[in-house]
Amino acid sequence: MTPHRGPQTAPTALWDDCRDAALYVHVPFCTRKCPYCAFYSIPLDDTSLCRKYLEALDMEIAQATRCRCIRTVYVGGGTPTALDAASLELLMGTIRGALQESPEEWTCEANPESLDGDKAALLAAAGVDRISIGAQTFDPDGLRTLGRRHGAADTRRAVEACRRAGIENVSLDLMYGYPGSSLRRIEQDIRNLMALAPAHVSVYALSVEPGTPLDRMVQRREIELPGDESHALQYELLRRRLAEGGYRQYELSNFALPGYRCRHNWTYWSGGQYIGCGPGAHSFSGGKRWWNPPDLVRWCTSVLESGRPQIEFDEHLSSEKRARELLVVALRRSEGVNRGWFRTLTGFDYRQLCAPVVRQLCDLGLLTDQGDRLRLTEKAYFVSDAVFRELI
Ligand code: SF4
Repeated sequence: MTPHRGPQTAPTALWDDCRDAALYVHVPFCTRKCPYCAFYSIPLDDTSLCRKYLEALDMEIAQATRCRCIRTVYVGGGTPTALDAASLELLMGTIRGALQESPEEWTCEANPESLDGDKAALLAAAGVDRISIGAQTFDPDGLRTLGRRHGAADTRRAVEACRRAGIENVSLDLMYGYPGSSLRRIEQDIRNLMALAPAHVSVYALSVEPGTPLDRMVQRREIELPGDESHALQYELLRRRLAEGGYRQYELSNFALPGYRCRHNWTYWSGGQYIGCGPGAHSFSGGKRWWNPPDLVRWCTSVLESGRPQIEFDEHLSSEKRARELLVVALRRSEGVNRGWFRTLTGFDYRQLCAPVVRQLCDLGLLTDQGDRLRLTEKAYFVSDAVFRELI
């Protein structure tokens, strides 16, 4: 099947041919749009639209989880905690009601300014056991540059609120490579972060996405981004300081204390099946991937009319394409790719599938292939996208 674009209702086969899956729920609301953001989200200023969203989500989740065993849940966005407490409780009740058993992990994303004690308590009561907080930086100038609404004190309060609610598994996002970021600021951010002792840390470089206000500012030369070398040094410093603090890097952007690896995201990097609900959410199951329209009104209308969303795009992956994609996502993991595991899952030997590229990348010192395990070398961490382009 060739890629398909355009209106179509999700065929039954897309929904019914897998059992174990990870569930992603997209909440498309934010209090305000950050200038660098390319995720699908809209300002939360129409309560009737929010009610419709919750109604449609209830229908979509019920369909999507039918006959499936949901292993992990991830509620992301947008900003789930931008919803008022009553709506957030309704959303969590919808998810909980659709699950046949307690998931192994249930994460909810939060922004520091919108996570208070009441919301943390209702999330914990619903079954959420992991909260991922978008701290980004503790530096007031940095937060202003990124157009964030919170301050460092909000991040501290949000972490405290999680702990008081009994949620110990807290992850903090940190950003680097944004205008004005520096090694000195990274050192300060790491000190502030360590003082909060989160179980998990994700670090992301600011990327300039086409069409965003940030992109326009860069085009007009109103702001200047750190160069590649500065970017790489900031990433290296983060890696070093986090390792010194006892955080093990288990993926290119993710670090955890022992036992706190994110299970949901691990499914993505290990070729597992996932079902996405909500506008713009992506799914992968039974060798097919598809995604919902990134448009709240269009998504709502189709779900409320037919019980299932109109799908924006679907694609059946050939076994070779699927194998190549798995190789690339699995190489994001520090443990790399075991040859036997890969062959069992895909039917391909990566040495033959990607010959002679694997050999060439090994010769360049960007991959190692030792003991039947293929890994990125540390030298390749910062240029991983270029390595992946060669393998795909
Ligand atoms: S809070 Fe997150 S999802 Fe919302 S606009 Fe900012 S970066 Fe995007």
